[in-house]
Amino acid sequence: MEARSGCEKGMPRLDLHCHLDGSLSQRFFEKTLGREVKLAELQVEPDCRNLAEYLAKFALPFEGIQSAENLKLAGYDFMRSAKADALDYVEVRFAPVSSCMEGLDVRTVIESVLAGIRRGEEEFGVACGVIVCAMRNHSEEQNRNMLRVAREFLGEGVCAADLAGDEALYPMRQFTELFREVKRMGMPFTLHAGECGDAENIAEAVECGASRIGHGVAMSGRADVMELCRDRRIGIEMCPTSNIQTRAVADFSVYPMREFLDNGLLVTLNTDNRTISGTTLAREIRTARERCGITDEDVARMMRNAVEVSFAPDELKHELLGRFEG
Ligand SMILES: [Zn+2]
Repeated sequence: MEARSGCEKGMPRLDLHCHLDGSLSQRFFEKTLGREVKLAELQVEPDCRNLAEYLAKFALPFEGIQSAENLKLAGYDFMRSAKADALDYVEVRFAPVSSCMEGLDVRTVIESVLAGIRRGEEEFGVACGVIVCAMRNHSEEQNRNMLRVAREFLGEGVCAADLAGDEALYPMRQFTELFREVKRMGMPFTLHAGECGDAENIAEAVECGASRIGHGVAMSGRADVMELCRDRRIGIEMCPTSNIQTRAVADFSVYPMREFLDNGLLVTLNTDNRTISGTTLAREIRTARERCGITDEDVARMMRNAVEVSFAPDELKHELLGRFEG
C-alpha cells in the first residue's frame, strides 16, 4: 500500500476522475479470464506517448465487463484498489451501454456495478459515487435511454453523468440538447472537454450546465475561458500522467496545472485510468510535486477543491472538510 505519501496526515484524499474499465486490477482479469495475465497486456509502457497505444489497452477490459457477475466483481475490485491507495472518497465512472454487447440491459449493468461497489464500500470503508458516461460515438437514442434509466439511481449510488469519447471527432455542440435534458432531469454532470479537443469545447460545456470539466488542458493560455470557469466555480479534473501518455499535453514542462492554480481555478488531481496508466493518487501527487511545480499547500488546496466540487452528499462533504482542520 502506498500509504498517504505526499499528503498531510489526516487530510482526506479524493479521486474524482477515474474510469472503471481502465482501473481494473491484474487480479480481476486473472479471475475473470481464468488465465495468467501479464501487466504489459493491461498497462501502457511507462514512456507511452501515443494515443493509439493507450486506447488499444481498453480492448481487454471491454471484454471483461459483459456479464452481471463480472460487473459486480469489477465494482468490488475497484473499491479494493481505492482502499490500497488510501482514498477516503472516490467517484468512479463507466459507460453502461458499453457493457450491453452480450445481451445485458442498462439497468442490470448499473445495478450490478452498484452491488459490487456497495460490498466494497462496506468492506473497505471508502465512500464512492458512480458517474455514468454517455459516449460520443453512441447514438443519441442509446445515450438518452441510458441517462433516463441512470436518473432513477440518482442518490442511490449514482451521483452524476458525464460525456466521454473522441472529442475531436464529435464536438460538444452535438450534445448540447442531450445535456440540457439531463439538467432538466435534475442530474448534475461533468463533461470531458479540452482533452484532445479545443478550448471552445470547454466554454460550450460550461454554458451547457457542466459543473465540472474533465481534463480541460486546452484552456491553457486562454484567459477568457479560464475566467469563465473561475467565475462559475467549475471543478477542473486534471489527470497529469494520462494527459502526457495520450499526448493531450506535449510535456510536463508545459503542463498547465500551475497556471490553472495561479488563475484561481478549482483544480483537482486525479488518476483517469489507474491500471492502463500505471498510476495511483499517491503517484499523481508525487508527479505533480516533482514535475509540475506543485507544493504541499497546493496539494492540500486541490484536495479541498475536490471536496467542494465533488458530487458527494452535503453531510459527507462537511465531514471531509472538517478533517482538514483536525
Ligand atoms: Zn477520462
